[in-house]
Amino acid sequence: MSNEERSLNFIELIIEEDLAKGMPKEALRFRFPPEPNGYLHIGHASSICLNFGLGLRYNAPVNLRFDDTNPAKEEQEYVDAIKRDVEWLGFQWDKELYASDYFQELYEWAIDFIKRGLAYVDSQSSEEMAKQKGTPTQPGTNSPYRDRPVEENLELFEKMKNGGFPEGSHVLRAKINMASSNMLMRDPIMYRVLHKHHHRTGDNWHIYPMYDWAHGESDYLEQVSHSLCTLEFAMHRELYDWFLDQIYDSSLVRPKQREFARRNLSHTVVSKRKLLQLVQEGYVSGWDDPRMSTISGLRRRGYTPASIRNFADTIGIAKRTNLIDVSLLEFCVREDLNKTAPRVMAVLDPVKLVIDNYPEGKVEWLDAENNPEDEAAGFRKVPFSKELYIERDDFMENANSKYFRLTLGKEVRLKNAYIIKGESVVKDAEGNITEIHCTYDADSRSGSGTEASMRKIKGTIHWVSIEHALEAEIRVYDRLFTHENPDGDKDVDFKQYINPDSLQIINGYLEPSLKDAIAGERFQFQRLGYFCVDPDSTAGKLVFNKTVGLRDTWAKIESKE
Ligand code: ATP
Ligand code: MG
Repeated sequence: MSNEERSLNFIELIIEEDLAKGMPKEALRFRFPPEPNGYLHIGHASSICLNFGLGLRYNAPVNLRFDDTNPAKEEQEYVDAIKRDVEWLGFQWDKELYASDYFQELYEWAIDFIKRGLAYVDSQSSEEMAKQKGTPTQPGTNSPYRDRPVEENLELFEKMKNGGFPEGSHVLRAKINMASSNMLMRDPIMYRVLHKHHHRTGDNWHIYPMYDWAHGESDYLEQVSHSLCTLEFAMHRELYDWFLDQIYDSSLVRPKQREFARRNLSHTVVSKRKLLQLVQEGYVSGWDDPRMSTISGLRRRGYTPASIRNFADTIGIAKRTNLIDVSLLEFCVREDLNKTAPRVMAVLDPVKLVIDNYPEGKVEWLDAENNPEDEAAGFRKVPFSKELYIERDDFMENANSKYFRLTLGKEVRLKNAYIIKGESVVKDAEGNITEIHCTYDADSRSGSGTEASMRKIKGTIHWVSIEHALEAEIRVYDRLFTHENPDGDKDVDFKQYINPDSLQIINGYLEPSLKDAIAGERFQFQRLGYFCVDPDSTAGKLVFNKTVGLRDTWAKIESKE
């Protein structure tokens, strides 16, 4: 669905209303504000597509703002990964900005707040402050430090900034209302003392601003018109507005916070904190493990940027949180790869097939179509010989009349090649089939134009020539969690639902055209699914990740509705 065809979402309606009320179109400005404390995941993709999508729709700038106010968890590695992922998704930010660039301005505003009696230094412990908070139905009590003289506040605050106090000894609080029905308005903390090295400001600061204080003011400094965040910040909006009220200059754009629902994906977790646990505790090989819900994991798995954007657009945005079935994401990548991925033949569970009447030592290089969905993709050559591999489950010794793959006494077509007939099998001592023998119809070569080549045969199976096959490592993935919503229950550790069989490594055989495939290249292994070359590949051995199978379960679910 293109942007133009669908009806406006509720955020766009808010923007349209603002424009109708006289906001100039040039004043529109958006931002995507990740905290660099982990890699981006599929949930972030929704926020990225929303914000950058608005930028495209209204031809407005979108900033990439790193919300780096918590030095304990933030790192340059994450900043780099986030930039790489947003770019890879196909979006271009106007400016790359950091909340830490505003530390000085925020600090000066805070001093101004103190002078105006809007903030004070509280020297109680966090436990004492918690006791005074009250409950949603009972007002809190004022801190004994609430009416500290301005001069004393200024002195203490400066000393906090310069590292003169230990962590936890003092905080700067906004003086709002300890009886507010919104607990967040009960004198919220603006600054805490932290003796942590910051990945950008180094050791310059010994106080760091809290999210609520930094976020709205950063939006204001950047003149962001619509600051979109997820629903858990709905209650914070009052505070966001209160902070802005104190500094707002009416000749400037006043940012507006609006909330949309977080997107959760089934059979995985979308929380940087939990994804970090999976990495640190070794459940996965890293942030870009192809089983991860991270953008970098999906990329390594073989997902395309278009498929992720299309997924985000299809689910759209909502006012209520719900769980999106991962099969919709799979549907989106399948749909995209079907159009673009070259077709190749690969056998992943081989059994040997010998064509008894095919000349010994003969090799034919047959034409194979690269992509039936794309004529321009052309043809390639695949080698055919007397001894082939086919999939073990494409043969059945005692098959009924509904079995259209290879069996004894019946015909089947070898893809891009000849019609063959099953003749006999060779078994080992345990009764396992080690070799299948067949005969071929020499006149039936696909595309040769002969009458025999046009014979209608019910089944077609894929194959590779044993002599020419490339051996490759194939990593086949299953869902990382057995539970649909592994972090749905606060009392249960989500790791309890980890699927112990989420990775299966097999040895496969590929047609030789894949010899020079490079990391990131995507293919359809015919009849098996979509596969992507993994960066672990070496000159001697290719490694493939299975992106997704060919079967289209989501379309079936959808059409039933
Ligand atoms: P996490 O819990 O994974 O760390 P977060 O919200 O703390 O998520 P941020 O880096 O602060 O992560 O998020 C950047 C932006 O992406 C925010 O505007 C946030 O609301 C949005 N976002 C994060 N997760 C989701 C999600 N699952 N669905 C939609 N938007 C999300
Ligand atoms: Mg966060």
